[in-house]
Amino acid sequence: MGADILDTARGGGRTVSLTFDDGPNPTDTLRLLGVLRRHRIAAVFLLCGGQVEAHPEVVRRIVADGHRLGNHSMHHDDMTTWSAERIEADLRETNEAIRRAVPGARIRYFRAPYGAWGASPGVAAALGMRPLGWRLAVGDWEPPGTDELVRRLLDGVTPGAVVLLHDGGGDRSQSVAAVDRVAPVLRARRWRFTLPAD
Ligand SMILES: [Zn+2]
Repeated sequence: MGADILDTARGGGRTVSLTFDDGPNPTDTLRLLGVLRRHRIAAVFLLCGGQVEAHPEVVRRIVADGHRLGNHSMHHDDMTTWSAERIEADLRETNEAIRRAVPGARIRYFRAPYGAWGASPGVAAALGMRPLGWRLAVGDWEPPGTDELVRRLLDGVTPGAVVLLHDGGGDRSQSVAAVDRVAPVLRARRWRFTLPAD
């Protein structure tokens, strides 16, 4: 398992990988799952352990729909100054929470909260998770309005980009609506939605 940070979508040319952080979040995650199903897109969900403990049934829905899982820490702490031991304890606790929700779940990725990686890539790799970065973030945490999110996604996407979006951490209805609008536009422009290139 490599510790270098992956930020590339699988396949050549116009490919893009959608990744969603900070959930599960019942309202927006479930609506997002409907949008992804309708557009036949497989995505990655980077989960916070505290949210998983609160909403395990949503994690089961994510897995049942065929998406991939990642670890996004227990409580979204900035790990920049943490020791490897402290990071490992947090990542293990998060994985245990995910596997209580979905026994035997495969947890392929880790993404550090705030992209504040510190010592976490090596720890994640040792636990069998690939550090997953991104090439495009569109500030959906602001949130700037659905029209603006659509514009930032269409203007910002580049071939092979892993895209950072959010389905948790607040009201993410704009993010869900933006994905619903962007997907058919990109498809019409001959982009393909793929998983990360691991
Ligand atoms: Zn986050």
